[in-house]
Amino acid sequence: MEKREELYAGKAKSVYRTDDPNLFVLEFRDDTSAFDGQKVEQLNRKGRVNNQFNAFIMEKLAAAGIPTHFEGLLSPHESLVKKLDMIPVECVVRNISAGSLCRRLGVEEGLELTPPTYELFLKNDALHDPMVNEAISISLGWATADELEQMKVLTYKVNDVLKTLFDQAGMLLVDYKLEFGRADGTIVLGDEFSPDGCRIWDKDTRTKMDKDRFRQGLGDVIEAYEEVGHRLGMQFN
Ligand code: ADP
Ligand code: UDP
Repeated sequence: MEKREELYAGKAKSVYRTDDPNLFVLEFRDDTSAFDGQKVEQLNRKGRVNNQFNAFIMEKLAAAGIPTHFEGLLSPHESLVKKLDMIPVECVVRNISAGSLCRRLGVEEGLELTPPTYELFLKNDALHDPMVNEAISISLGWATADELEQMKVLTYKVNDVLKTLFDQAGMLLVDYKLEFGRADGTIVLGDEFSPDGCRIWDKDTRTKMDKDRFRQGLGDVIEAYEEVGHRLGMQFN
């Protein structure tokens, strides 16, 4: 598959056109940012670790019957994906309280949330990703009621698969963000699932093994991502 021109460069990944109008190349870069782009750094090997992490998870999800955009690895830091018409709403699931939920509601970190919560945020850097809901998303034309229902069902299905996977490997999947898009009239999981878009804690010590290590300046960020991967049975090139 021939990689053509860059169509979009985001904060951490770049999207390239290919010879096939239905396929894109997703390049995972080492660029890392947090706090609305106020903290920016290059983390050595981050692109390749996240790309291979994502590939492993997307394959697990596909095996569980979840439609994903992932087609295959192209190189250690690049994947071939289905071209999606992205829905500008991020779906956040929380199994344990942390992050913006604690800040917004004044609750302590680490409470088990039963059932898991489901929140929607508008993907908009300039507006700092404000929280939205299904009614607003429908009225403003970001997605139809049917698409939003499919996103919710798929997100909970992803949670069932991944919560168990992490638990069996001695880790807690605290929270994470998913993005979906349209391809041929159906809703497909897009973007990435990696320690960059989730919170993962060690089950016994509750040590943070995710992007919070970068946000909080705890060090050994990529080493922690790799440790998560190794526990789940991944090997990185
Ligand atoms: P951001 O745009 O938030 O800075 P990234 O740096 O991760 O994020 O850039 C990747 C971009 O590619 C995101 O905007 C994401 O929505 C988009 N994207 C992910 N998967 C696909 C896909 N299969 N088709 C089209 N766009 C995609
Ligand atoms: N998240 C993300 N991208 C975003 C917003 C959130 O990957 O633009 C992830 C984040 O890493 C965390 C989860 O979604 O795992 C919930 O994030 P939260 O709302 O708690 O916001 P934060 O505390 O990260 O600002």
